Amino acid sequence: MRYISTRDNNMKVTSARAIAQGLSVDGGLFVPETLPRLPEGAIDELCSMNYRQRAVYVMKLFLEDYSVAELTDFVTRAYSPRGFDTPRVAPVKKLDANTHFLELWHGPTCAFKDMALQMLPHLLTAAMRKNGEDKKVCVLVATSGDTGKAALEGFADVENTRICVFYPRDGVSDIQKLQMTSQSGSNVLVCAVNGNFDDAQAAVKDIFSDPDMREELSQNGWMLSSANSINWGRLLPQIVYYISAYCDLVNAREINAGDPVDFCVPTGNFGDILAGYYAKNMGLPVKTLICASNKNDVLTDFIKTGTYDRRREFYTTISPSMDILVSSNLERLLYDLSGGNDAETAGYMAQLREKGVYTVSDAIKSAMDGLFAAGSCDDAETKSVIARAFKEHDYLMDTHTAVAYGVLEKYRAQTGDKTCAVVVSTASPYKFCTAVLEAIGEVPGSAGPELIGQLESASGVPAPMPLKALSGKSPRFTDSYDKAELPDVVRRFLK
Ligand SMILES: *Cc1c(COP(=O)(O)O)cnc(C)c1O
Repeated sequence: MRYISTRDNNMKVTSARAIAQGLSVDGGLFVPETLPRLPEGAIDELCSMNYRQRAVYVMKLFLEDYSVAELTDFVTRAYSPRGFDTPRVAPVKKLDANTHFLELWHGPTCAFKDMALQMLPHLLTAAMRKNGEDKKVCVLVATSGDTGKAALEGFADVENTRICVFYPRDGVSDIQKLQMTSQSGSNVLVCAVNGNFDDAQAAVKDIFSDPDMREELSQNGWMLSSANSINWGRLLPQIVYYISAYCDLVNAREINAGDPVDFCVPTGNFGDILAGYYAKNMGLPVKTLICASNKNDVLTDFIKTGTYDRRREFYTTISPSMDILVSSNLERLLYDLSGGNDAETAGYMAQLREKGVYTVSDAIKSAMDGLFAAGSCDDAETKSVIARAFKEHDYLMDTHTAVAYGVLEKYRAQTGDKTCAVVVSTASPYKFCTAVLEAIGEVPGSAGPELIGQLESASGVPAPMPLKALSGKSPRFTDSYDKAELPDVVRRFLK
């Protein structure tokens, strides 16, 4: 199976090329030329497998140029008991008769980015070999929090790679900062940038698009790559957990094979929910995909009206990983719903770039109406959802998951839909201690890792080991730089 660019149907590459390259040269994103279908009887077969076996089965449908033996090796390393605190990897927890939580935060950094970023380094280094590329890869990441740490954990000590993470000096939580600056590994570098997330991101983009710098690094045997969710190698591992959750519900006799299920997804860059859309189109019995936003509700408006308008105020919320106004992966959805129309897709993206707004065709709008629902929750609602679920169900959730659960409740109240629903739970509540403590009526007593202990005693829910271990750690990386210094920082790192 080939991969094609959303902006040029003539741009066709192998899966190994799509993964190594990340973005197509025309600026488009790579998508499978045809989406594979789950074969007859696949759900039955998958039900009897464990998570890793399911991952091999599903990924193999997309990766012709990778062998089953290779993929088996990758999943064994990516989803190992050393990294994940449960052999189920992505367990489904029952809240009530028709509500379940798919917990995607049992990995090394306690957020769902691990599901993909534990796998990406293996897919990427194998892709380099398959492409006959003799250079080593340096992954550059600008992060507002979760992605940086997950990428560091994924790439730390992976042969023939280095990873360099830039975070805004005053733009991440104390826990997120210490998670990154205490990272171990001989091939990692973590730098604070004097500025905000946009400054860090702009600096990385400048390095990527500087031909002289690329040439110089190439002479020294280095190629630059990105761990952002535009890379197909990050999206693919996410399709697996939708299918796996469905199988878990069948095995637990919560549903019968073939019954419809709704998924409600806390959404930022549209990568997670897009993976659910692909799972549905492969034949998984999904009825509605519910897209949940925080106060930055650009996607809610888009799904309801067909107009995407980024010209609006940006809010900083207690669910920071969803504070985003341009959702890159939406491009893949538009391409698919336009029937693979590259010119139409490129047109929408050009309007977004030039005017900050576009309106999709009636055909795309009505296709979306049959697939998606959408809603949003502000910070006050998010906190009351956390409080209520903890009080009534003794279930503690983080702020992003709470946005999704709150939106699911509103959706049910509006539509009367009683379909079995899975809320995609994207982070451990211990990553966002301050807001979660406040939600359950506690006054946060301090800052940083000490809050973990406070939340543990207040809730009685054990904190994940990787976060507990933080309190004994001191930062390895303490330097901060101005934006203009970053190219030289990268040059020195790759000497
Ligand atoms: C990244 C992230 C999201 C948003 O996922 P997208 O794929 O960007 O839509 C939601 N919750 C958490 C905790 C995240 O880290």
